[in-house]
Amino acid sequence: HTDTTFDAAAGQSDVRTALATEFEKRHGQAPDGLWSAPGRVNLIGEHTDYNAGFVLPFAIDRRAWVALAGRDDQLARVSSTFSEETVEIDLADLAPAALDGWSAYPLGVAWALLARAGTADTAAASDLARRGFALHIHSDVPIGAGLSSSAAIECATAVALNEFWGLGFEPEELAAVGQVAENQAVGAPTGIMDQTASMLGRADAAVFLDCRSLESQSIALGLDAAALEILVVDTKVTHAHATGGYAARRASCELAAQTLGVPTLRELTVDDLPRMQRLLDDVTFRRARHVITENARVEETVRLLTEAGPNAIGSLLDASHVSMRDDFEISVPELDLAVEVSLASGAVGARMTGGGFGGAAIALIPRSLRPALEAALVEAFAARGFDRPDLFVVQPSDGATMKGHHV
Ligand code: ADP
Ligand code: MG
Repeated sequence: HTDTTFDAAAGQSDVRTALATEFEKRHGQAPDGLWSAPGRVNLIGEHTDYNAGFVLPFAIDRRAWVALAGRDDQLARVSSTFSEETVEIDLADLAPAALDGWSAYPLGVAWALLARAGTADTAAASDLARRGFALHIHSDVPIGAGLSSSAAIECATAVALNEFWGLGFEPEELAAVGQVAENQAVGAPTGIMDQTASMLGRADAAVFLDCRSLESQSIALGLDAAALEILVVDTKVTHAHATGGYAARRASCELAAQTLGVPTLRELTVDDLPRMQRLLDDVTFRRARHVITENARVEETVRLLTEAGPNAIGSLLDASHVSMRDDFEISVPELDLAVEVSLASGAVGARMTGGGFGGAAIALIPRSLRPALEAALVEAFAARGFDRPDLFVVQPSDGATMKGHHV
């Protein structure tokens, strides 16, 4: 990943100009460089990451861009087109408790980077903490649509500061830094999937990540060759209980693992299900069954993609949705409708994607199907009295730019 990644990005020169102009306006100086990192879509492997399981996300052609310049004091000063406010903090005062709101994402990354540098070399880290910066974010990853706008801004910030401070961390380490920021500075107990996809994504490929070993592998998707594309159906539904629901699902998974005497559900397979059914209450059993069968589906998806191509994975996507709907119980009527209509219209496969309780579904479709499917979705949502969904195609794209474009 070099400058060429940046130059290859769609609409890059517009973004570059707009970002530089906005940076000057907000920070009164010119940026030193521009970095970017994408959002992601999870193809399959939901709620498996925090269970040390398998996930198969891909980076998408919607990105967060970060412009950054050094300052001659030790302030961290951050802004975003998303907000009027510019947030300023002395680098010496960076701590999770001192951060909140949207700026906890970029400032949390700064804090987590300094903390990681500090474990290796305390003196060097305290030296870095005197090198203040101004940073501006512009992102076209929609917020709360299940495309991980949060990982996009974390990873874009991480690559920018990694280069600015000369830290030399690897992409995998920067993904971990993003997760630490999100867990500790933002306070969201999320897994490593989103940041890994944003850092390691490749054009026309997905990232097969083993969340136990953290080993990852790029898996060719072959969508172009098969004349397939992935349509995102953003229901725009958000549920107030999503955070509570996520925590409750995590707790169920932990309870199941504990009852079975294993550190995580990753240690169990479908062969253990009969025993689990005897030991667990019905709800806990079904939560665990989702995770265990989902891990198996991810592995099978990888095998089929490699051996037979994307047309072969439809039924796995469908089964993943059913498992999330009936066992994990994180779907909503709008997501079920999106999947139902997609399949009835001729999609290869479809499932809700992301944490659930709202957000988006994906449909793997022949390119030629798109106009008819879009019309069918709009009509079906209207007929049920649901808000019109946002529909757009995502392209599997390159991950974060490790090296900034200097301006
Ligand atoms: P998502 O599923 O999109 O990641 P999250 O709730 O995890 O949703 O993250 C969304 C939050 O990330 C926003 O509420 C905001 O605080 C922050 N965020 C996302 N994009 C931007 C942006 N362009 N500028 C500033 N903050 C952003
Ligand atoms: Mg997020």
